[in-house]
Amino acid sequence: MSAKGWEDSGELYTVKSRVKNHFTVTKFNEFFWPIKTYHVRRGRRRWMLCECPDKIKPMCKHRRLIQIFEKGGWVNKGWFFDWVDQSWEPPLTWPIHRTVDRVRLKRA
Ligand SMILES: [Zn+2]
Repeated sequence: MSAKGWEDSGELYTVKSRVKNHFTVTKFNEFFWPIKTYHVRRGRRRWMLCECPDKIKPMCKHRRLIQIFEKGGWVNKGWFFDWVDQSWEPPLTWPIHRTVDRVRLKRA
């Protein structure tokens, strides 16, 4: 087993925005299964409000993710950002051979 354990592997996120200044950050597990969703709202002067437990802090993972997604133009593109690896995973296609490959890769 590698230092990065099976349980820790795969912390994937997507960011979607259907309404201006409103974002949905979705967390997926290594099987691309959605686990949790956070709503983030941006107010005046680009100040952002998240609903997660870290909302009282000036910055949290979800607000950081929105910055990362916006910087590269990834919002609503269906790409996944792997927080652990700080890398991008392409959108899912069917059949999802990629998912299986990824799991094999992570376990190797
Ligand atoms: Zn947050």
